[in-house]
Amino acid sequence: MGVKLLCIVCGRKFSEGQGVTINVSGRSYSFHSKGCALKFLRKVLEGIEQSEVGRAMEKVADEYAEMLKEKAERTAKKIV
Ligand SMILES: [Zn+2]
Repeated sequence: MGVKLLCIVCGRKFSEGQGVTINVSGRSYSFHSKGCALKFLRKVLEGIEQSEVGRAMEKVADEYAEMLKEKAERTAKKIV
């Protein structure tokens, strides 16, 4: 039997390797499902200065946009 973890949002027990774990500043946060992780992250975002959150989110959105663009270009090259 593997290590049992506890979801910090709903208190459900689950096996290590399942669920979602986020590591921040040397501490790890475990969630039994993506839903619980999202609930937790939404609350974290609510607690942070909106302009800071906005900047961080824009940065990540730009990174994904860049990745999608590169992916589309690679696919286009393959077709030619
Ligand atoms: Zn949970």
